[in-house]
Amino acid sequence: MEKFSVKNLNVTYNGKKGKKVHAIDDVSFELSAGDSLGIIGESGSGKSTMIHAFLRLLSPNTASISGQACFDKTDLLSCDEKQLRDLRWKEIAVVFQKSMNSLSQIHKIGTQFEDIYSVHNSSASRKEMKDTISNLFEIVNLSPHIYNMYPFELSGGMQQRLNIALSLMFHPSLLIMDEATTALDVITQGQIIDELLELEKQFSITRIMITHDLSVVASSCKKILVMYAGRLVEYGNTNDILRKPMHPYTEGLIHSFPSLYGKKEQLKSIPGSLPDLSREHPGCIFAPRCSYATEKCFQTRPKTYTLNDTHRVSCHKYGENSNE
Ligand code: ATP
Ligand code: SF4
Repeated sequence: MEKFSVKNLNVTYNGKKGKKVHAIDDVSFELSAGDSLGIIGESGSGKSTMIHAFLRLLSPNTASISGQACFDKTDLLSCDEKQLRDLRWKEIAVVFQKSMNSLSQIHKIGTQFEDIYSVHNSSASRKEMKDTISNLFEIVNLSPHIYNMYPFELSGGMQQRLNIALSLMFHPSLLIMDEATTALDVITQGQIIDELLELEKQFSITRIMITHDLSVVASSCKKILVMYAGRLVEYGNTNDILRKPMHPYTEGLIHSFPSLYGKKEQLKSIPGSLPDLSREHPGCIFAPRCSYATEKCFQTRPKTYTLNDTHRVSCHKYGENSNE
């Protein structure tokens, strides 16, 4: 059964001078319990906007949103505030890249963790609470000594690890990480990801992870969603996509990253830059940068074709071979 599904999500920012910026354009995907999804795409492709939209972190003055984002049967975009509050923390946890200010600087770390734990778990014994918190510190590779320290005494990377620990406190069903491990050294990042994979197995946690690091996606995500200029261009199993990318943009992204499999090849960048999202783009939005583009590509928007159970690609090249 689907744990989380996004259907026809559209986000338009109210930009400067009345400009409308269509940052997310008709994105749909679905995840089962225990799935892990890596969202990739160059800067400005709409990854963070999508997450902010389905967590209702964009004010109506900033952006208009349409579509659905269903967690189990609750549509996060239309449920009332109380339902949303009840789901956050216990069911849905989120860690951003710069979550360093989420803890008070003037209270001891252990005390703050205890307070949060007891608010949501008032019947727990003191021992149970301390054991849980110590275990969380261990998961993110922090020494037990930090229990009696203040956040300002920790480095930025250590504070970020604390935030990851906090997000795991109640074994959320849905964990969302927006570049949450980017600032960490590779050893700590690797340790946290290994622990996450264990916890995900144990508690069937579904994870959505935004990252620029393809090696993190390759080693920790079952699925990939490739975004370009607010559109979903490819979606499917990580192995399928990394070994045989079908969309020209995915191909370009993978070739611009040091080789993950097989022999080392020279890195290639994708010529050109993202289009202006405040303008209409009737055809394929990647056409100006695509070496396979035909006249049709500039005139008609490609459908999203289903190549197999999970693999979907938005490109005219697959029109004839799809199951659609
Ligand atoms: P990065 O990897 O750099 O975080 P991203 O893929 O997460 O980038 P977003 O930050 O979601 O991309 O931005 C998507 C698009 O929306 C960009 O064109 C950006 O300029 C635009 N955008 C973001 N916030 C606003 C805003 N408040 N007003 C207008 N446009 C915005
Ligand atoms: Fe390239 Fe055309 Fe496919 Fe777009 S639809 S990615 S322009 S081949």
